[in-house]
Amino acid sequence: MDTSDIRERALGAIGAAADAAALDQVRVEFLGKKGELTALLKSLGSLAPDERPAAGAAINATKEALSGAIDDKKRAIENEQLADELSADTVDITLPGRPRGVGSLHPVTQTLRRIEEILTVAGYEVVAGPEIEDDYHNFEALNIPAHHPARAMHDTLYLDNGLLLRTHTSPVQVRTMENREPPIRIICPGRVYRKDDVDATHSPMFHQVEGLVIDEGVSFADLKGTVVDFVRRFFEKDLGVRFRPSYFPFTEPSAEVDAQCVHCSGKGCRVCSGTGWLEVMGCGMVHPNVLAMSGIDPERYTGFAWGFGADRLATLYFGIDDMRNLFENELRFLGQFA
Ligand SMILES: [Zn+2]
Repeated sequence: MDTSDIRERALGAIGAAADAAALDQVRVEFLGKKGELTALLKSLGSLAPDERPAAGAAINATKEALSGAIDDKKRAIENEQLADELSADTVDITLPGRPRGVGSLHPVTQTLRRIEEILTVAGYEVVAGPEIEDDYHNFEALNIPAHHPARAMHDTLYLDNGLLLRTHTSPVQVRTMENREPPIRIICPGRVYRKDDVDATHSPMFHQVEGLVIDEGVSFADLKGTVVDFVRRFFEKDLGVRFRPSYFPFTEPSAEVDAQCVHCSGKGCRVCSGTGWLEVMGCGMVHPNVLAMSGIDPERYTGFAWGFGADRLATLYFGIDDMRNLFENELRFLGQFA
């Protein structure tokens, strides 16, 4: 029996099979239960008995040859596939590396740390207190009784239980005065909350730093010296500083402090609205009522207090024109100050 025709067609088909599925198709076509070679084997019975062995041998030889060819082709297809996968996964070591983001301190954190550093070197101790306060420590003990008009300026956020979110860090001063004997020399940095709408200069949460000094013989001259020194150290410039009379319930006398514009040194620019001056903080001599309420003898001791928004100082120091930039946490923006 001549099987060379089948063998040739089968080898051709095996060679042409592009993938494992096509190859399997070829196997079924020739070697499967209903395949051509199988059909040929079944037809052996119709041959003369003396022709059968030779014919059977020829069919089996073809079958083996085709099986071997299919196995070889299968391996070749697998190898090719593997090579494709490997080349697809190749790492191009000539590509430039991706920069890995290195964290940096938020400008407000940097500012708070600088402030603390300047003032701890000057002998101040950093003191913290609760952000959820009671009415007494946030208002009463600071000479702001119920119905006092100054309460309206604070736009307080009250909690359901009658407590409130502190509107300034002054209650930390009260708590310190209640628990310590003078001399007291502290700063209270921290978050404070007011029902303010968000705009370029306001945020419902901002950072305040307040300083308090209480001792015998402390005068307004000490306050002025302290504030002027701080402003110059903070802005790293020999800026002019002026005090304008003002009013706070917890200090008497009180003053607002202006510093010469750090950007134009007083000539007038966009940052200072052309005035040459920037309002930087409020201050004053601690009101005798405040001392007395916290158990400190106002006949013996005097003190001064001063406070400012750290976010505002940060915007002035870094030249940021919109405070919202500090709180939106856009990393590309914040990264400039790393
Ligand atoms: Zn200016």
